[in-house]
Amino acid sequence: MSSPSLLDAITVPAGTGRSVPDAATREIIGHAPVHTLDDLEDAICRARAAQPAWNALGHAERSRLLHAIADDIEAHAEELAVILSREQGKPLDGPNARFEVGACAVWTRSAADTVLEPETVFEDGPARAEVHYDALGVVGAIGPWNWPMMITVWQIAPSLRMGNTVIVKPSGFTPLSVLALGEIFNRHLPSGVLSVITGDREVGAAIASHPGLDKIMFTGSTETGRKIVESSARNLARLTLELGGNDAGIVLPDTDVSAIAENLFWGCFINTGQTCAALKRLYVHESVYETVVNALADLATAMPMGRGLDAGNVLGPLQNQNQFDIVRDLVDDARAQGARIVVGGEPAPELGPLFYRATVVADITDGSRLVDEEQFGPAIPVIKYADVDDAVARANASEQGLGASVWSDDVDTAVEVAKRLQAGTVWINQHGALNPAVPFGGTKQSGYGQEFGAAGLKAVAAPKVISR
Ligand code: NAD
Repeated sequence: MSSPSLLDAITVPAGTGRSVPDAATREIIGHAPVHTLDDLEDAICRARAAQPAWNALGHAERSRLLHAIADDIEAHAEELAVILSREQGKPLDGPNARFEVGACAVWTRSAADTVLEPETVFEDGPARAEVHYDALGVVGAIGPWNWPMMITVWQIAPSLRMGNTVIVKPSGFTPLSVLALGEIFNRHLPSGVLSVITGDREVGAAIASHPGLDKIMFTGSTETGRKIVESSARNLARLTLELGGNDAGIVLPDTDVSAIAENLFWGCFINTGQTCAALKRLYVHESVYETVVNALADLATAMPMGRGLDAGNVLGPLQNQNQFDIVRDLVDDARAQGARIVVGGEPAPELGPLFYRATVVADITDGSRLVDEEQFGPAIPVIKYADVDDAVARANASEQGLGASVWSDDVDTAVEVAKRLQAGTVWINQHGALNPAVPFGGTKQSGYGQEFGAAGLKAVAAPKVISR
């Protein structure tokens, strides 16, 4: 008998769970379990019980298991990508569902291979102090709906590698993607080491304050991040907070626009704009303003949008009604304020109820809601500036500080501007490109703590000084 599909393995019968729609067609894909607070208690008890033995396995064995998991992710890549594409809405093609599943394998292998040796921080004759990194215990991983598989891997692979056990709480919008990923992990992990709890917000809130948790890895909105900080006063859980962004990009004077246009487009529109570290406000020098606006508009018009499973589409729907309403309201507000809608600016109902055309908005400036607020969708405001110092000041005049980018033919000049921008990462001639060896995290209201590489392993470890 052939083994059940991943979807069959994770869904529960209709009537016993929450129905999950296809983001593009709204057809029901399957039903996710609705775990209760008792289920959460049980999972945390099992995680605590499993942690000492998991830790005792040692780094080499845990790394071996993580590589086996990455192999299995690759073996089931297409099945995972189809579940993700349907539930989240992102197309299979382009920098979307297949790309995200590929990244899951890459980040899992990176967590397996990154080495965190004890650090000697003081030495004087026989006296020596070393910092060692131990497991923390049980980590709670709470994630968003935009890159649900990849962000879950970012949270859980380093946690597991360091000898922690993990409770995962996916977004209620994308439980199946994370359950499917968890199913692959759990084919290799001892019982109790990883549990996926798909409850509602009540369960999320209970994780954040639970005394059985030692660390919360949270990725989501700044608003929910604040609630997590409040909840953690109860258990003093360590926190890594990857929160919202309103990333600015600055195109410097006299830049060759044809050389950067495609990177600029994907910096704004990756995952149909539903990306934390995407370009959300673009400041362009007046010398190249119309050229940039036209290049973005041409690409926005040319890029195929539609149902994710249909080959060739690279832009999809908004994932949920709430996000669709936010994008539509912000663009309508910009139009009402007199901004110029160069392309898009309206829903695409012929594609499905949650599609919104790729939108470029010009002749707009700071103070407009589309510039000041996080749109998290396919609509980029392009703001003209005359003076680079002024553009830097406006880019920095935000409470958020996740990413930023500078665009120029002269990379050294761009780096000098980058040094003045307030953000966790500043990219040159690209935006949002991530590397598992390079630390990633926000400043200001975009959160604190870093993920990836050795910094990411330290974030899920308890530092211990041995002094002699
Ligand atoms: P959200 O804050 O609404 O939800 C995130 C998660 O928190 C979900 O799993 C949700 O169920 C859970 N949650 C809600 N209330 C909770 C509570 N009181 N206690 C504990 N958990 C709770 O965010 P979202 O709408 O899913 O994601 C979009 C936001 O996430 C955007 O602002 C985006 O910029 C941000 N984001 C940031 C990063 C990053 O790396 N910095 C990455 C992706 C998304």
